Amino acid sequence: MTLWSGIEQFLEQRRKQGLQRRRRIVDSPQAPEMLVDGERLLSFCSNDYLGLAADSRLAEAATAAIGRYGFGAGASHLVTGHMTPHHQLEQALAEFTGSEATLLFSTGYMANQAVITSLLGRHDLFVEDKLNHASLIDAARLSGARVQRFAHGDMVRMRQLLAADGSNQQSLDSPGRTSMLATDGVFSMDGDLAQLDQLVPTCRQAKSWLLVDEAHAFGVIGDGGRGSFEALGLNARDPGIIRVGTLGKAFGSFGAFVAGSRELIELLIQTARTYIYTTALPPAVAAASLAALVIIRDEPERRRHLRERVDQFRQGAESLGLNLMPSTTPIQPILIGDADNAVSASEQLRRQGIWVTAIRPPTVPQGTARLRVTLSAGHSREHVDCLLDALATLNLPKGNRP
Ligand SMILES: *Cc1c(COP(=O)(O)O)cnc(C)c1O
Repeated sequence: MTLWSGIEQFLEQRRKQGLQRRRRIVDSPQAPEMLVDGERLLSFCSNDYLGLAADSRLAEAATAAIGRYGFGAGASHLVTGHMTPHHQLEQALAEFTGSEATLLFSTGYMANQAVITSLLGRHDLFVEDKLNHASLIDAARLSGARVQRFAHGDMVRMRQLLAADGSNQQSLDSPGRTSMLATDGVFSMDGDLAQLDQLVPTCRQAKSWLLVDEAHAFGVIGDGGRGSFEALGLNARDPGIIRVGTLGKAFGSFGAFVAGSRELIELLIQTARTYIYTTALPPAVAAASLAALVIIRDEPERRRHLRERVDQFRQGAESLGLNLMPSTTPIQPILIGDADNAVSASEQLRRQGIWVTAIRPPTVPQGTARLRVTLSAGHSREHVDCLLDALATLNLPKGNRP
């Protein structure tokens, strides 16, 4: 028994179960047509929803900032690392999201951790949807709060857990006890929207924080790209509502931010360990994000084009008899069921030059392995036709065909 034998066994088991994850090397910009391990593939799996990752305006903004500020930020925000591009981006994001203030983080993972661990401790309650992103789940664990999860979209159970029905009202009102409900705004593996029309009033009544992770929503949904609240015609300007956005998806850049009340942002600056004990983003990255924000605000035609591609895909896939999920967003999973069949379907597509990832347990529940198709404003009508043609030739097991 060596130090390594346990690891070898673990890896071998993963390989045997067909669950080994591997990385593919991309040697071209993030765009629908990519060079992957020397092969040309048409990609339907990036999070670059608006086609901004390789937009020259982001590269130009970054280059100009490098010319002025150099590359590294040199220190954390509270030491010497807080620079003009960071500050300008925070102000522009506050205006865009309609919140009092925002605070930049290096990643969405860290932003979620900051909010949850700064507001909750071990006497508090954290309630969440079971399909929430891993960063919310991990942060809750780290906070030490009592975690209660409800089945995806189960609003009855959600209300019970928050005790808005009155059964547990007393303990929630007891001094010093805090509760928070957290949800993805757009669920990353299913593509559906959180039922904010029910979550908002329930949280208000229960005097609970509501944390909405808008990683797949900001820039993408709502006519102005202002996310789930805009898409559902709801107001996010309530001091109990906190939103987290990421800059690595629709923004085509890197980083994340928290949007909320001035007091909340001040609290995070004072207490959030993932803010205080880490180097600030390179200023050029903030400058690129600001350039992306201007495009998101000024080019709504990108969202219209994306919407058309989503409709085109759904109509085509439905007429092929594929099992779609009730999603109106660019995340359009095709349910396959069995993990091996999902991998086989992904392989069959790749042989035809199409890149769509198979998502398997434990990322999604047992028996719900799927092809996760994501669409982008960078896709043309012809690109989506190519995907549909390839899907039509798939040899899928029964249940995925009428
Ligand atoms: C991607 C993602 C994150 C993490 O954001 P990063 O900036 O990539 O760390 C958080 N929440 C959700 C829902 C995400 O999809």
